[in-house]
Parts: sequence; structure tokens; C-alpha cells
Amino acid sequence: MTTTRFAPSPTGYIHVGNLRTALMNYLIARKSGGTFILRIDDTDPERSKEEYVDAIKQDLTWLGLHWDRVERQSDRLDRYAAAADKLREIGRFYEAFETPTELDLKRKKQLNMGKPPVYDRAALALSETERDALRAERGSGVRRFKLEHERIEWTDGILGDISIDAASVSDPVLIRGDGQVLYTLASVVDDTEMGVTDVVRGSDHVTNTATQIQIIKALGGTPPRFAHHSLLTGPQGEALSKRLGTLSLRDLRAQGVQPMALLSLMARLGSSDPVALQTDMAALIDGFDITRFGAAPTKFDVQDLFPLTAHYLQALPLDAVRDEVLALGVPEDLAEPFWLMARDNITTLADLAGWWQLCRDGAEPLIADEDRDFIAQAMDLLPDAPFDGDSWSSWTAAVKEATGRKGKGLFMPLRKALTGQERGPEMAALMPLLQVVRARR
Ligand code: GLU
Repeated sequence: MTTTRFAPSPTGYIHVGNLRTALMNYLIARKSGGTFILRIDDTDPERSKEEYVDAIKQDLTWLGLHWDRVERQSDRLDRYAAAADKLREIGRFYEAFETPTELDLKRKKQLNMGKPPVYDRAALALSETERDALRAERGSGVRRFKLEHERIEWTDGILGDISIDAASVSDPVLIRGDGQVLYTLASVVDDTEMGVTDVVRGSDHVTNTATQIQIIKALGGTPPRFAHHSLLTGPQGEALSKRLGTLSLRDLRAQGVQPMALLSLMARLGSSDPVALQTDMAALIDGFDITRFGAAPTKFDVQDLFPLTAHYLQALPLDAVRDEVLALGVPEDLAEPFWLMARDNITTLADLAGWWQLCRDGAEPLIADEDRDFIAQAMDLLPDAPFDGDSWSSWTAAVKEATGRKGKGLFMPLRKALTGQERGPEMAALMPLLQVVRARR
């Protein structure tokens, strides 16, 4: 049975980068009929905020990424303490007292000597008396996990065979001096105890994975399968990290991006399968294959979401957007013809307002000087209201007959006179909705 988890820290709004992680874990679970856990990584009481927990749930719900259960790390502190005790008992846990400044100095020295900046384990050499003295002077130290210096290997679901020399990695800090449990310990305890079988996360976690594999084994567990997806960059390959703040899911929603457009892009971007709009979750689940993803950084252009959104909206029936249409003030009986007329001419639902305003209030006519007489003549031939689906063709036929104009020279000035624009919906579909012209006649 597959179990995956999405494990955001509630320290901010989730963005497109997080979404990729969430979606892949969701799709893997759903594809195999497994369980998808939403795990809130909130062991940092200062930075974790309840409003972000709520926001994360709202964002996932908006996207339709439903979780089977929620787990909160802040509810499981006793489990982490028990794991820490076990690591201490088996001699894989030690206290270290270096200040951040001291550690920084050590790192600089190592780099100057051309050595990798790995923690030198000086704390392991402390005697009991020295430890007591340091504790009295500086308070409790951090608790580090003592890595076994061996090669740590796994077959990554995206990166393939990975081998990391544990000696090139610092012994990870699992608990801070003030007792706060850090992510590495909490995460391995949860992954083990919750029976997580597959962990997909960003490639910035590859080194963490190496240390976590050792910790899981030290605790007597079996490591899950790991897959590390590449990180997103901007369209030119530039780092996205600084801009992720403006690429939060709520910003995208506010910009009118449709969930299926966003999910369709994210389920394929960076894979060898082409991006294709999927209109429902089942198709997305069906078409997902993590082995198709590559290790190279993945270019993301927010602009790609808008054609997909437009494409998605074009195929929707009124029922899917009835509330939004009625909210504009469109009368019930016009809702369907209005939607069918407008849906091909919008990028997001926000664009509907402009088309409804045109229908309701009319537009300032756009009439070129050389067309003035022509338009005056045409307006005299405008059939009586109410207009119907034939009004445009019968009107243009009459105008053609009276003026001898045809083709673009006939249609374009009429469109511009009625709509004030050169482009827009089919005039035959728009005319029956033009309330003002109808009212004026
Ligand atoms: N809270 C961690 C993060 O957001 C989770 C990483 C993981 O998936 O293990 O980076």
C-alpha cells in the first residue's frame, strides 16, 4: 500500500515550487489507490502560524488535492523525544557546544585549506567534566546525530543511482540547545511511524536524504523510496527563489488561473511528456509517470498558465460557471447564450465583466470618418428588437444590398459601430445580447 505525504512548514503561503511537490506525492498516492497525508511541519513555534496552516488547506482544496488525513508535528513531540532517547542509547547522539560564530570560523579555515566544510566532531572528544563546564557556561548544547562514515546509496525515482560519502556531510543537528526538535529528526520519525512508502521532494533535499536514511536505519526502520525533482527556474533559467513570494497559489488564483490549468502544467513540466490540458483529475492521475521526469532545472513561465486557462474555459458548460455569470447581473434567461458567446473570447473569468458591460450598456461606437454615411445608412436598416440569432445575417444582407459593400469593408465597420472594438465574439451570437441597442430601438 502506497503512502505519501506533502509536508509544508506553515511559515508562509505555498507557491508553485511547493505545488509541484504536493502534486507529485498526491498523484503517486491516487494512482495506486494509496494514502496521501498532509503533514504540517510545525516544530518551530516562532515561525509557524495558524493562518498559514489554514491557507495551505484552502490552497490545496482550491486545487482539488484532497488529503486523507492531517498530521501535525507539534502534536508528536513525545514521539521525537522517544526517538532521541533511542539514538542516545545506541551511542549515535551527542551534544555539541560550538556557537554559530565558532562553527563559521571552522568552516572558513577548512575552506582555506581546500577541505570540505564538514563539522569536525570536536565535541566527541570532550570529557564529562569539560561538557559539564561548557553546559554551565553556555547552557545545553545542540544534539547531533553521529553519522557512520560509509557510502550512503539509494536508487532515486528521478535521479537514478545516488551514492554519497557520509564523511562529506556534517553530523546533522537534530535538536537545538533550547530543546526544539528540528525537521530532520521529526521527519524521519514521522515517515517511519506513518508508514510512508514514497517521498518526493525537491533536489535541495538530496543531502538530507542521505543522512535521513542512516537515521531511519539506526532507529530500526526501513527507508521509503525517494525521488527528488529538479527545482524550478524562471523562463530564462534564472533562480526563482526570490520571486516565489509572488508566485504563491493565492496570487495565481487572484489572477484568474484555473486549477486544472495549473495542475496540467505542473504534472508535466520538466518531464519528457508534452504539456497537455487535462480537464479532470482522473485524466491527470492516469497520465502521470514520475519516471519521465529529468534532473535538469525546470523552466517555469507563469504566462504559460493563461493560454491553458483560456483553453480550459472554452470547453466549460454554463453549469460550471453559472454562479460567476449570474454574479455579473446577467439575467437567468441570457446566462447560457451570454456564456457561449463570451467563453471563446476570455483569458480568465475576470474578462467576462467587460463583455457583459458591452451587452448591458453598449459601447461608444468606433466609426472612421469615411464610414459615417455608411453607418448612418446601416443603422436605419437595423431590424426591430428583440434581436435573434438571424439578426446579424439579415441585417448585413440588407446593408450589403443597399450600399454595395461586402466582405471586411462591410462587416468590420458594423462590428466597430456596435461594439467599439475591432475584435470580439461572433456578431451573430453577440447581437441577441445587446440590450442597449435593443432598448434604443
Ligand atoms: N517541511 C519540509 C520542507 O518544506 C519538508 C521536506 C520533506 O518533504 O521532507 O522543506
